[in-house]
Amino acid sequence: MKKPPAAPLLIENGTLVLPDRLIEGGAVLCERGRIMAAGKRVAVPKTATVIDAKGGYISPGFIDIHVHGGAGADFMDGTAAAVRTALKAHARHGTTSIFPTTTTGAPEQIMEMLAACREAQRSWEPGDGSRIAGVHLYGPYFAPDKVGCHSREGRRAPDAEEYARWFGDDLVRIATCAAELPGAEAFYRMARKRRCLITCGHSNANWAEMASAFKAGMRHVDHFWCAMSSVTSLRPRFGTPMQASMEQFVLATADMSTEVIADGMHLSPELLDFAFRMKGAQRLCLVTDCNRAMDMPPGRYRFGSEADGSFFESDGRVGFVPGEGLASSVMGLDHMVRHMKKSTSATLPEAVRMASLTPAERTGMGKRCGSLEKGKLADVLVLNRRLEVQRTFIGGVEVPHD
Ligand SMILES: [Zn+2]
Ligand SMILES: [Zn+2]
Repeated sequence: MKKPPAAPLLIENGTLVLPDRLIEGGAVLCERGRIMAAGKRVAVPKTATVIDAKGGYISPGFIDIHVHGGAGADFMDGTAAAVRTALKAHARHGTTSIFPTTTTGAPEQIMEMLAACREAQRSWEPGDGSRIAGVHLYGPYFAPDKVGCHSREGRRAPDAEEYARWFGDDLVRIATCAAELPGAEAFYRMARKRRCLITCGHSNANWAEMASAFKAGMRHVDHFWCAMSSVTSLRPRFGTPMQASMEQFVLATADMSTEVIADGMHLSPELLDFAFRMKGAQRLCLVTDCNRAMDMPPGRYRFGSEADGSFFESDGRVGFVPGEGLASSVMGLDHMVRHMKKSTSATLPEAVRMASLTPAERTGMGKRCGSLEKGKLADVLVLNRRLEVQRTFIGGVEVPHD
């Protein structure tokens, strides 16, 4: 692996975006891949390479905990080359740590995806793009009535023998399962043993099912309001009296976090602001849930594996299945931060926190990355005043935007 440059790196002349405030006229000093200082007055070694932020923002790198691909590649394509294509694309959009996300698929397809991510992670150097922080094991354990755009044939209930192989090493860091499926609790217990962030998604669970999942370690819900239960969706399962859903459970439980696809296409500004006001910046993550059509022309693409994933269309703004509904986003995390800032009551530090420190904390990396703090990884972005990514540094090394 390429070592970060020995010379210190100074990024100056920008507004620092900290988790709780902005500091104008600030600078960040990086050395040997770490942040050495961040603030208004930073002692500059003579040997430092100086980067001019040109009056823009200096922000921590973004962290995406739910993302399927980009630039034509889906992580489920199952090759290290496809993984690297997506990593490179997301670095351009400001993502410095990424959790490649599985979808429904045959057991071997998921094994291949894990092997491809492992290979890309082992040989990774900053020029490759976003750093793989772990895999998000997302599909195939979805509820039959909440599969969404994923291929239906690949969906199933958790099978202990099957997932034991996936949890074989520590690559899987986030684990999703619908709480109402038979075997969900054993799955959650296994994921807890591996210290994963445990999440319930593509689920039609009621409050009681969420409460027992919470006991087993579940602390997060995938893409709030998308493919999840509501008071009305529970009626066919439970009749009357009407039941409380995942929505009420997440909003009423302080320890539960969730995420929103803030592309402006999935959720209205009112819903985004409501989620932010209810959960706060420490319990709400911004995710892309982005598919392979990011940075690609409008057209027809496969969701999941290139070999047999289900088809969707992209109009360049969002993925959709004609006549059915949306099929995840085609935007990078930089777009989500801009949209959240523009369309909700979140301040810039809060919008950035939801795309950096909050996902870092929820996945157990809060001490390692996610903010411009001494000792953390030198994952730093230079943004212009419109919050567009100008330069991406991962571990103190610039990733070219080509
Ligand atoms: Zn989904
Ligand atoms: Zn997804």
